[in-house]
Amino acid sequence: MRSKPSVLIIGGGVAGLSSALTHLQAGFRVTLIEKRKQLGGRAWSDAKGLDNGPHVILGCYHHFRKLLRALGTEGLFEKEESLQLTWVFKGGQSLRLRPPKLPSPLHLLAGLIRLDLPLKARICLIKGTLSVRLPLPPPGTTLQDWFVKRKINRDTQSLFFVPLCRAVMNVEADQADARLFLKTLRVAFGASRKEGAIWCPTAPWSQILHRAGALFLEKNRVEWVHASVKALSLSQDKGIDSVTLGNGQKRSSFDRLVLAVPWEEAAKLAPFADFATKAKEIQSSSIVSVSFPPPRQPFPFNEPLLALVGGEPFHFLCKAPSPNGWLTLLAGAADHAQIQTQEAWIEEALKCFQTFFGPGKLLPESPHQSCRVRREARATIASTPRIAGLRPKPGPTEIQGLWLAGDWTDTGFPSTLEGAAKSGAFPA
Ligand SMILES: Cc1cc2nc3c(=O)[nH]c(=O)nc-3n(C[C@H](O)[C@H](O)[C@H](O)COP(=O)(O)OP(=O)(O)OC[C@H]3O[C@@H](n4cnc5c(N)ncnc54)[C@H](O)[C@@H]3O)c2cc1C
Repeated sequence: MRSKPSVLIIGGGVAGLSSALTHLQAGFRVTLIEKRKQLGGRAWSDAKGLDNGPHVILGCYHHFRKLLRALGTEGLFEKEESLQLTWVFKGGQSLRLRPPKLPSPLHLLAGLIRLDLPLKARICLIKGTLSVRLPLPPPGTTLQDWFVKRKINRDTQSLFFVPLCRAVMNVEADQADARLFLKTLRVAFGASRKEGAIWCPTAPWSQILHRAGALFLEKNRVEWVHASVKALSLSQDKGIDSVTLGNGQKRSSFDRLVLAVPWEEAAKLAPFADFATKAKEIQSSSIVSVSFPPPRQPFPFNEPLLALVGGEPFHFLCKAPSPNGWLTLLAGAADHAQIQTQEAWIEEALKCFQTFFGPGKLLPESPHQSCRVRREARATIASTPRIAGLRPKPGPTEIQGLWLAGDWTDTGFPSTLEGAAKSGAFPA
């Protein structure tokens, strides 16, 4: 009897776990090499259970949700029925988008028309939202260019498009690839209203991905090697031959190798591949989160996610799933802010918190000691028009036996959990 084909996956983030699932389902024997102690890659938690930064998902993250179902953790999210957003303005006034139960996209239009805003502002918002369905702009267009072309007014930009752009693209509108952004919105506001629903985790990512991932690998007899891969070697006929680990050991008995590591690491490990030259040019975009212990008085909002209008450099306030009651201010595309030190980030966060929620007793005592700052310098790739041409396709490469996966590959999605999961779901 022919033995099972085997695959060696490098990287235990979402792309690597998704690739493990795909290959198991296709009957492969799977080995996974991960250099860190935790699975889950860029979605991880510290020893206290505080996440490295808030991660939310959308109903349209179908590949990621398939992975969650395989891990048994799809239930660990607070799910809405459709896109629901709460905006908070300086001083604490708020505005809530709560679309009614109508087919998509009517639900969204009806939700916008019900907003507590002047009629003209609501009409502009509806016009702006409908523009998403107009023909896509040419390649190279930024979202800011598209605002000008489609005459999207400032309020519509700052209420609707800019928060979504930061959340999905992790760059500012004047940098964002308009085509990729608009295509993503079309998916989110497409077939059903559930597609655009925001899902917030109710457990730390170490529980959702790491612990559940480890059990999943064990149950499916996946060999999980805790090691860093230092080099890939080619055979004489230029196919992939072996990998060398940090301790000098070599692994060579596999039929396929899936490289599921971030762009810079992929370029270093496979300098001989076509994708390496382009991967080296991909720019990263950072995310900074500042987390506070529970406020000393009841917090006036119950929503797990608030969009802060004019809160730059912070755009969202999220309830951390753990430790209980902690709040996190999130700054996407954070390089823009040019804030260098942890101390300066805490100062900025305290100022922002007080501007939106008042100087009362909401802040913890001695916040400088109790706040946590987490800066993820390479949180995502910067989804700019230039980078669109640098992303290789996921799946087989021109090197015999070498496959690619990762949020940076060209999946049609920005650099997200869904992009990562989709890249690993390339048919085995
Ligand atoms: C703070 C923050 C907030 C975010 N928020 C969101 C969000 O709200 N929604 C969303 O969709 N996305 C969000 N993202 C992006 C999302 O986390 C990533 O797109 C996704 O996790 C990438 O998965 P990946 O598997 O492609 O890469 P990674 O998660 O980077 O996984 C790669 C793995 O490879 C391992 N590795 C690297 N080199 C080697 C080596 N040489 N040998 C062995 N192992 C190696 C790494 O340790 C890592 O575990 C956020 C990211 C951050 C940092």
